[in-house]
Parts: sequence; structure tokens; C-alpha cells
Amino acid sequence: MKVQEFIKKVQNKEMDIVEHTYKVIEETKKINKEYHYLNTISEELAIEQAKNVKENPKGKLAGLPISIKDSICVKDIESTAGSRILKNYKPLFHATAVKKAIKEGAIVIGKTAQDEFGFGGFSTNVGLGFQIPLNPFDKKRTTGGSSGGAAGLTQKASFPHIAFGESTGGSIVNPASFCGVFGLCPTYGRISRYGLIDFGNSLDKIGPISKDVYGCALMLETISGHDEKDSTSLRENTDSYTKYLKKDMKKIKIGIIKEAFGKGIDKSVEKHIWDSIKKLEDNGCTYKEVSLPNSIKYGIPTYYILGTSEASTNLAKYCGMRYGITEELKGNFNEYFTNVRSKNFGKEAKRRIMLGTFARMSGFRDALYIKAAKVRTLITEEYKKAFKNFDVLISPTVPILPPKFEDINKLTLLQNYMIDILTVGPNLAGLPHLNIPVGFENNLPIGMMVISDHLKEGNLVQIGKEFN
Ligand code: GLN
Repeated sequence: MKVQEFIKKVQNKEMDIVEHTYKVIEETKKINKEYHYLNTISEELAIEQAKNVKENPKGKLAGLPISIKDSICVKDIESTAGSRILKNYKPLFHATAVKKAIKEGAIVIGKTAQDEFGFGGFSTNVGLGFQIPLNPFDKKRTTGGSSGGAAGLTQKASFPHIAFGESTGGSIVNPASFCGVFGLCPTYGRISRYGLIDFGNSLDKIGPISKDVYGCALMLETISGHDEKDSTSLRENTDSYTKYLKKDMKKIKIGIIKEAFGKGIDKSVEKHIWDSIKKLEDNGCTYKEVSLPNSIKYGIPTYYILGTSEASTNLAKYCGMRYGITEELKGNFNEYFTNVRSKNFGKEAKRRIMLGTFARMSGFRDALYIKAAKVRTLITEEYKKAFKNFDVLISPTVPILPPKFEDINKLTLLQNYMIDILTVGPNLAGLPHLNIPVGFENNLPIGMMVISDHLKEGNLVQIGKEFN
């Protein structure tokens, strides 16, 4: 059953939502044993919420099971961002996005697995003691990341469900692509970041992952909007995104990102994307090639300098006193601080603290951090220019099919970071983008990425519906 039909049934009291929620929890536990998609299953909370919905089934999301990436706060439920340093941290409040969804009758079933603090593209950089989520189509392969648990659960669950993901450099569309589902990363500031455990404040976005584009549109219109608790959230009115499911395609002008094809792209990925572009053409769209040399050439270094710089300051607050884990109080503050962090951050988190601190150090700051900030503006301007001629831009989401874990282990650090080559651009520019599942090769899913101009999420929904 699809999300839309399910919510109608709950609203019309055609099903017992408490009974259904028990079944959902049971199935989630079963899936989790095999695939490791959740760090926490919030059974008690889900049943309590289901009982409330049974009393009052009027909300826009009445009875809908939702899962929340572990880096997004849910009141009284352990929220670790996938890191041991936040073990036992139970927020005293809901993230604004979560609060809005619950107010409309959504039911929180748990917190999904991720790379520690979002540091990764394969969900293999999980924190110490956490399990790596497995691809729903082949357990030897990655779900993608960092919202790997969110995308995997969305694909695997037989019940209607929407996941909350988070993207800093591609962590919504990348796992959505590798797990064969829709994932929508909105304009920076469209959804409040209040209650999101920061990775890079100028880059982080919350966004929905769903089996159909309707789910993404519905969730976006429910949880977006200005929030006085997040000064970077936009004041512009939100749209009714679901209405774009009914709009005619005729006038949409598509730009095909030239640099995203050719060398380094898996042939089967390339073929499926072109077939999909032809399909859009048959439905009335027009397309032309567009060159975005800066975003492809400079995207990775720019993103990794800015991302690690911001992350390294954000992680400074984890000293084993204010949040999460504590260690035996021994020595002076510096000794305690070092002990807590050495023991409880994973390898990639430590690497990013060092890289980011280096990029901000006096003597290097101008050459690294400040320069990257300038290149970011250049990249944004390149996209803005393209949007003078096109409504949307298209490329593959990821250049390759989901790799096997054994092959990921062989990658160099730079090769590992290169997985984000096509997704860091729109993330740096704060542009909304959508992964659309467009086909399979050897039973592995392939995703197409559609990017639109700021606040034009409606265009993404319109293209997405052609592949629903
Ligand atoms: N893969 C990228 C990184 O490792 C993006 C992560 C994200 O968007 N959270 O930083």
C-alpha cells in the first residue's frame, strides 16, 4: 500500500492503527536483525503515538510510520548521530522537523544507522560499537551513506514509511540511489535544523526519503518553513509540493551536466540515465547539454575543506561532560578531554577533526579555508547562471553501482571521498536535489539526480512523478 492510500485509511478509521503499529515494530525488529538499519527502535513511543492517533486520526500524516536518522533529536530517545561519544544521550526536546511530523500524526519507529556524525558515503564509518547497514539488494554491498539505514529501511519495509535523512554533501541522494528509493534534499534553510546534531552548519539539511515521490513532497510540505529557533531557516513561504504531481511537463527545460558523463562513469549507469532523459523528452521536456566545469573539478576539495573545518569546531563540544559518554574523572581537564575523545571517537571522526583544524590554523587559513569559501561562491554562481537557461539539471546521482564492502576497503582515502563527486556541487550551493530510482543493472539500483534552483523543489517533484 502506498503512503497516500494508507493515510486516507487511517483518517477514515478503516484500520486499527495500534494493531498496525505493533506489526510495524515486529517487522522492523526482524529486518533490523538481518540488515542493521536502526540504532534504536522506539517501540514504546510508537505505541503511545499510535494510541493518540487512534483517538484523533485527523493529521496529514495520520498513523504513518517514520524513522529518524540518528543525528536528528527525538525527545527521550537515545540520539547518538552514530557516535559512541553520544552514547546514552537522550535529548530533552524534539527537532523542529520531528515535532511538526508528530503533530500531524506521524509515528516514530526508531533512529536509523549512519556514518558517525555523517562522515562518509558508504555508512561504513559507523561509530565504535555500531553495526554497518547492508544493502537491501545484496548484503555484501553498501547502502551508500551517510543516511544508509534510512534508505535501506525505506526500501526493505513492506509497510508505508518515510525516513528522515540528512545531507551535508550528498547523504540523502547517495544512499537513496544505492537502495533504489526517492530522496529529496531541500534548499538550504527550507527545513529547520533545530535539533539536528551538526556536522557542518552551513551545509546541513534534513530531507525525506520515500518509496514514491508523493511521500517526499508530502513530508517536505509538512516539515518545512521558518523556525525562530533556527536563524538560518528561510522566511519565504513554503509551497504545496504535492500539487506538482498534477502539473503538465510540457515546458520543462533540462540541462544535462556534460562533465558528469564519460570517464569514470559506469556504462550501465550512463545508459539508464540517457534512457530516462529520452523518456522525459517523449513526455514533452526539452534538453541540452550544459557545462559546469568548476563544480565538478573543484567540488571535492572545496567541500572537504569546508566540511571538515566546520565539523572540527562542532565536535569540540564533546568533552565527556555536557553530553553523552563520561569516563573516570582523572587528571586535569586536558587529560580528561583527551582520554574521552581518544576512546570514543571513531577513526574518520578523528581524521576530520585533524584535517579541519589544520585548514583553519593561522598560516593555512587563507590558503585553505578562506580560499575554499571563495571557490564555493564561484560554484554557486556557475549553477545560478545555468538556471537562467534551464529549469532543472540532470546527472547520475553516483557514478557507480553500489560497491561490495571488500572493494570499499581497498579504496584510498581520496578514492573514497570521490564517491561524492556529483553530489557535493548542489550541496555547496544549497540547491535542492532529488534522487530518482530509474532502473536496475544486475539487480542493483541506479539513481538519477535532478537539481533545481533555490526554492524550486516543485520542479523536482514534477520530474520525479514521471518515474513513480
Ligand atoms: N560523503 C560526504 C562526507 O563524507 C557527505 C556526507 C553527508 O552528506 N553527511 O562528508
